[in-house]
Amino acid sequence: MQYHQHGFRPGNPNVAPASGAIPNFDVLPETVDVLIVGCGPAGLTLAAQLSQFPGITTRIVEQKDGPLQIGQADGIACRTMEMFQAFGFVEQVMRESYWVNETVFWKPDPKDQTAITRHGRIQDVEDGLSEFPHVILSQARIHDLYLDVMKRSPSRLEPAYSRRLLDLKVGAKAAQDPNAYAVTATLEKLKDGQPTHVETIRARYVVGCDGARSSVRKAIGRQLEGDSANQAWGVMDVLAVTDFPDVRIKSVIQSAKEGSILIIPREGGYMFRIYVEMDKLSPTERVASRNITVDHLIAAASRILHPHKLDVKSVAWWSVYEIGQRLTNRFDDAPDDSSQPPRVFIAGDACHTHSPKAGQGMNVSMQDGFNLGWKLASVLNGRSSADLLKTYSAERQAIARELIEFDRDWSKMLSTPVKTTPDGPGITPQAVQDYFVQHGRYTAGTATRYAEGVLTGNGAYQHLAKGFTVGARFHSAPVIRLGDAKPMELGHVALADGRFRVYAFSDASEPTAKTSAIWKLCDFLSHAPTSPVKRHTRAGEDIDAVIDLRAVFQQPHRSLAVQHMHPLLMPAKGKFGLQDYEKMFCIDAKTGTDIFDLRGINRKNGCVVIVRPDQYIADVLPLDDFAGLTAYFAKSLLPV
Ligand code: FAD
Repeated sequence: MQYHQHGFRPGNPNVAPASGAIPNFDVLPETVDVLIVGCGPAGLTLAAQLSQFPGITTRIVEQKDGPLQIGQADGIACRTMEMFQAFGFVEQVMRESYWVNETVFWKPDPKDQTAITRHGRIQDVEDGLSEFPHVILSQARIHDLYLDVMKRSPSRLEPAYSRRLLDLKVGAKAAQDPNAYAVTATLEKLKDGQPTHVETIRARYVVGCDGARSSVRKAIGRQLEGDSANQAWGVMDVLAVTDFPDVRIKSVIQSAKEGSILIIPREGGYMFRIYVEMDKLSPTERVASRNITVDHLIAAASRILHPHKLDVKSVAWWSVYEIGQRLTNRFDDAPDDSSQPPRVFIAGDACHTHSPKAGQGMNVSMQDGFNLGWKLASVLNGRSSADLLKTYSAERQAIARELIEFDRDWSKMLSTPVKTTPDGPGITPQAVQDYFVQHGRYTAGTATRYAEGVLTGNGAYQHLAKGFTVGARFHSAPVIRLGDAKPMELGHVALADGRFRVYAFSDASEPTAKTSAIWKLCDFLSHAPTSPVKRHTRAGEDIDAVIDLRAVFQQPHRSLAVQHMHPLLMPAKGKFGLQDYEKMFCIDAKTGTDIFDLRGINRKNGCVVIVRPDQYIADVLPLDDFAGLTAYFAKSLLPV
C-alpha cells in the first residue's frame, strides 16, 4: 500500500482525503453523472468503483430503508476474491469467511436405499488456480464491506435509502449529446415503506442494479427471456445439532426417493445453510401461494439425510427462492445495431437470473459492476469516447449466456433422480461428481474469457506467455519486489483505480543495459510521440496515471541494482517528485517460484502483457512491438 506521496498525513491510511465538501447524500441533487438503482452486489460494486473518482458525481438509491442484514447469496468464487483484493478488503473476507476447501458427495446406500452414504470427496479448487480460496460469507457482510470502501473513498459516497425508482425516460434529442443529462428518473421517497412524495433527478447515465424485477429493465423495454419453468429452492441458514458427519464440509447429497440437498457450511463455525430443491412450479404459480414453511424445509432435509438426525435449534434466515434461467438480449438501451452509445444499463439479476446451485448469482453480478465501472469513469473523465460503453453489453451478455447454459445443465443434473439400479433411469452419483470437477474452473469464476474486440486483442503472440490467456483474467503469481525485497503477488498491484497495467517481462539480457529490450521499451514509452503513455496522460498528471508500467526481471533481486534501471521504472511523482520504488519485480529465487516458468513466459524474448482496469488480459505483445502498444490504446483511449 502506498501513501504519503503528496506529503505526510497522520491517521488511518485506508481513509482517503475527502475531495471537497461532503454532500448530504439523503438529498438528491437535480443532476448527477451516474445514477445507480439498487444496493445489491452489482450496484455496490459499481458504486465502490465510481466512488474512487471524485470528479464524477454518483448517487446510488435503494428502496429499502437501510443496508441488507441477513440472507440471500453467500458463495464467493476465487475470481471474486481477486477483485476484492483490488478493492482492498480481501483480508477481511478471508478472516471472517468459511473456506470451501473440499466438497463431499453422498448417494443412496446400495445396501439400504432409504439411507445415504458418502461416495466421494474432492478438493474444491484445483491447486494453483488462484492465490485466493473459494469462500462463503453472507451477502450482507459483502455489502457492508463495499459500503465501507465507498465511505472511505475521496467522495465519501453513501446510498440514499428509502428511494424507489418508478420510471425512466431518455430524452431522444438529449441522448445525441454525450454531455447532456439525458435520462430523467422519477423516484418516490418512502417513509415506513409508504411513499411520501415524488422526486426527479436527471442523469447522464443510469444503471439498473435493481434485481430480478428490475424497473429499469422494464423502462428500457428489455425482457428477461428463457426458461419459463421456474424452479423453487428452499434455503435455510440453521444452527442445528446433527450426527451427519460432513456438516462442516460442502456436501452434495442425493437420496433415492426424497430428492437432493446441498449443505453449505457458513462463516463463524456453527451455522450452515441447507438448499432443498422444491417441486417444479407451474409458470403461473407463485411461491407465496404454495404455503411452504420452514418446517416443510426442515422435514424435507431430514428425510434426505436419513438415517442421520437433524435437530434444528434456530433458523437465522430462510426463504423459498423461485428462479428461472433467464436473460435479456442486451444489457443496455442502445439500439440493436449499436449505432448509438447507451445511456442506460442493467446489471446483475436485472439482466440474468439462474438457480443458486452453482453459487454464481452474487459473483457474476459483481463482475458486471466491475466491468462497467471503469468504463463509465473513463468516459466521464474524458479519457474515452462514449463508444467504449458499447463493450459492456457485448462482453457481459456473452458471459451471462454461458452461465445460464451451465446452470441449466447443473440444475438438471441435481434434480434428476439418482439411478437405483445399473440399467435403470436417472443419473449416477459419479456423473454428478465428475461434472462438478470438470467445471471447477467455471464455478471458480476463472473461466471467463472475453472475445476479441476493442478491448481484447487477437492473441497473435499468445505463445510468448502461454499462461496469461488473452481475454481471461490476469492470473497472479509470486514475485519479489526489487525496491524493498518484499515477497508478494504480482497481481496485487492492480487496484480498482481505473488504470491499465502494462507488465513488461524482461528478455534474457541484463535490464540495466541500454541495449536491452526493457530499456528500449522504456525509452519508447518515455519519449516517442507515439508512446501511449505520452498520448493518453495529461500534462501535470503522474506518468502512471492512466497506464501503469511494471517490469518483471528474470534475475534474482539481489543481483540487480535499482539505481541503474531506466528512470521510467522509478518515476518521480506527486508535488515533491518522490520516486516510486514499486514498479520493478524479480523472480523469487529463495522459494524457487519463478513467474516465467509458472506462466510460460518466453525467457529469450520476454513479452508485454496489457491488463485492463478490471484485471482482464487485453493482449500479449512482443517487447519491441511498439506499434502494437500504440494501436491497442488508441482503440479505447482518446489522445490528450
Ligand atoms: P439484488 O441483490 O437483488 O439487489 C437489487 C437491489 O435493488 C435490492 O436491494 C432491491 O431492494 C433494490 N431495488 C429493486 N427495485 C428497486 C427500485 N425500483 N428502486 C430502488 N431500489 C430497488 N443467490 C444465491 O446464490 N443463493 C441464495 O440462497 C439466494 N437467495 C436469494 C434470496 C432472495 C430473497 C433473493 C432476492 C435473492 C437470492 N439470491 C440467492 C440471489 C442473489 O442474491 C442475487 O443473484 C444477487 O443478489 C444479485 O445481485 P444484484 O445486485 O443484481 O441484485
